[in-house]
Amino acid sequence: MTNRTRASPGLLERLAAGPVICAEGYLFELERRGYIQAGAFVPEVVLEHPEKVYELHREFVHAGSDVVEAFTYYGHREKLRVIGKEELLEPLNRNALSIAAEVADESGTLLAGNICNTNIWVPEDKDTHKAARAMFEEQVGWAVDAGVDMIIGETFCWTDEALVALDVIQASGKPSVITFALDADGLHDGDDAVTASKKLADAGADVVGLNCSRGPATMLPVVRDIRAAVDCHVAALPVPYRTTPEHKTFQLLEDTSCGCTPGTGSFPTALDPFVCNRYEMGEFAKEMYSAGVNYLGICCGAGPHHIRSMAEALGRRPPASRYSPDMSKHAYQGTNDNISDYYKKLGEMYR
Ligand SMILES: [Zn+2]
Repeated sequence: MTNRTRASPGLLERLAAGPVICAEGYLFELERRGYIQAGAFVPEVVLEHPEKVYELHREFVHAGSDVVEAFTYYGHREKLRVIGKEELLEPLNRNALSIAAEVADESGTLLAGNICNTNIWVPEDKDTHKAARAMFEEQVGWAVDAGVDMIIGETFCWTDEALVALDVIQASGKPSVITFALDADGLHDGDDAVTASKKLADAGADVVGLNCSRGPATMLPVVRDIRAAVDCHVAALPVPYRTTPEHKTFQLLEDTSCGCTPGTGSFPTALDPFVCNRYEMGEFAKEMYSAGVNYLGICCGAGPHHIRSMAEALGRRPPASRYSPDMSKHAYQGTNDNISDYYKKLGEMYR
């Protein structure tokens, strides 16, 4: 147990006052940096290279994230069983929470516990529901011990699994954020996103919405519909990839101009040609916020530059804005008085 003092203002007060930004996507970013293995995607990095997790939390906060999400995504019992390291379950969770708590406390941001799809859920098998509940309970228990300000349950593909997660979070007394990861057609149980979100809202979730799987273009219209259907706060945390009506999720994107990627598609390690630029993520944030969606962020693929752009689009100036672009000082393209006319002239070839 910790004696951590709850962050003030809390999640609900902040949402009442304006947008809340939550950077996600730790798995993808630390995989790119060489500290997580794609495939299993288990965050062993919190034990093996904790300094890298501190660093990324700090970079996201520097860029404008209001939430430090403990890196326990896929740090659950099923995943640790798959990699044969179940004994690491509790130390991994406690370490992730204590790293995130330190960064949240030093920056005055919100500390979030995190649970997600269990990968054991089978709709018609009640034993798996009990086992999933037990997995949620142990992780939420460690989060409560760490004194979290809120708990995020994310990337659910079955409404009923999300409802169990919500029930466990509610029993902890912490504010809840529940987000679904949509396939091309909706959820695995046949619910569409609006129906699923309504069920969660009716069950008392504080924030409902979508994260992961879809890029801005294919997430935005669905979140608008969710906004119109529920009374609670709504979340939108897309992946920063250019999904399309034909390829609605990032799992379906395929780079046909490259013949050397393993497997058939570009997911998850060859999505680079589809990355949205920072301005696209800023536009997404602005458009969603003006539609009444006030819990905003980015999932797998997010970089700090995306988060800063979102923050600035929402009228913020996070510390990283000190380094936001100023092309007036560019060697060739700049307009600064100290740049010679000769170089300015050369710069015309760039325009
Ligand atoms: Zn994601």
